[in-house]
Amino acid sequence: MRTSLMIWWQTAAVLLILFCSLSASAATPKGDWLLLPDRVWTGNGDAAHDGWAVLIHDGAIAAVGPIATVNAPAGARRVELPGATLTPGLIDLHSHLFLHPYNEMLWNDQVLTEPQDYRTLEAAAHAKSTLLAGFTTLRDLGTEGAGYADVSVKRAIDEGLIPGPRLFVATRAIVATASYGPGPRGFRPDIELHGGAQEVSGVDQAMAAVREQAARGADWIKIYGDYRVGPDGGTAPTFTPAELKALVDTAHQIGRPVAVHAASDAGVRMAVEAGVDSVEHGYGASEATFRLLKQHGTAYEPTLTAVDATSEYFQHYVPGKSEPTATMKEAERAFRTALKVGVIIGNGSDVGVFAHGTNWREPAAMVRDGMTPTQALHAATDVAAKILRQSQHFGRIAPGMDADLAAFSGDPSTRIDDLQHPVFVMKAGIPYLTPAATP
Ligand SMILES: [Zn+2]
Repeated sequence: MRTSLMIWWQTAAVLLILFCSLSASAATPKGDWLLLPDRVWTGNGDAAHDGWAVLIHDGAIAAVGPIATVNAPAGARRVELPGATLTPGLIDLHSHLFLHPYNEMLWNDQVLTEPQDYRTLEAAAHAKSTLLAGFTTLRDLGTEGAGYADVSVKRAIDEGLIPGPRLFVATRAIVATASYGPGPRGFRPDIELHGGAQEVSGVDQAMAAVREQAARGADWIKIYGDYRVGPDGGTAPTFTPAELKALVDTAHQIGRPVAVHAASDAGVRMAVEAGVDSVEHGYGASEATFRLLKQHGTAYEPTLTAVDATSEYFQHYVPGKSEPTATMKEAERAFRTALKVGVIIGNGSDVGVFAHGTNWREPAAMVRDGMTPTQALHAATDVAAKILRQSQHFGRIAPGMDADLAAFSGDPSTRIDDLQHPVFVMKAGIPYLTPAATP
């Protein structure tokens, strides 16, 4: 009895070692892969190409074209992707890995009650579900009270400790004093509240905060150009023009682009005039203000899904059943105006407000509100890579680019909702989702 049990354990141990070494070798970045989807959408132009193949060598794209023209070396591993379309790995330019949906827990409660250690573990889990959804790059716009923990999550991903997308992080984000939550409005004035971002007043503090955050690992500087600071809690600009200019100039001098949260027309306009690189939300921006974005080459992330989600949570909106809410209509108007004017529109969803791994909802919302499926795909690939200043590394399927790729069942270049069904994900030549492993 005892002997047979021991033999069983030994066999199990051998199998386990064998299994581990197999899966470890499957994750090696070295080697050649031949990907054989039904079609390839490269990000160059709009058409998807039937019967094309992509060859990967040592983490980079070696060749792309009709199967007959792609010569794979003898040892290349073949991945058949029947019924699927291969695209560049998708990019979401506005995420919060340290938040989870507000219908699970309100933002105030997440920031005030969840320990930073726990939030960091949550962020790791969120990073994994994001990557497996086909999103190989995120710009994460602020930890919302979790300090510099995003820098550690990025490091753990880069070192291969945990699976996740490439991260461009903003660390703590910068707000004007007493102009961001939790509170102070609605809380008794004699308690010290843990802030959702770093508070500054005056040019000196603004410059110091940019330098601190950059030194600790911020790739982008995130600022809040307006917030609910009006006398009745309405949205109004927070920083003075001098503070805005100090923030932007200091960031630019040390090579950090600036993303601004701005929802009001005045807030957006002031930020663009100060020289920010991207505007987030922009729901209240006028046509004249969007023309200013176009003139300055300022990018715009519409975050339509954040509005959909908060409408569901707090305004009884039921998708497909109820009329769009007033805030949804306002966001749609802004998006359509930006599209008409020809502003550079990047895919940025504000995921975290809604569930990580469902980032596809933003391209789908952009198509619902007026983009073609290929416009939305560009916004989430080559256009987003350009906004990140990473066009030479990823965002398109072309020889020499990093092998960041995703495949979806169906054809998202004609039916954007097909982005819901990833069947293959590769980042830097390492596959993270393959058809055999698809649940
Ligand atoms: Zn956000």
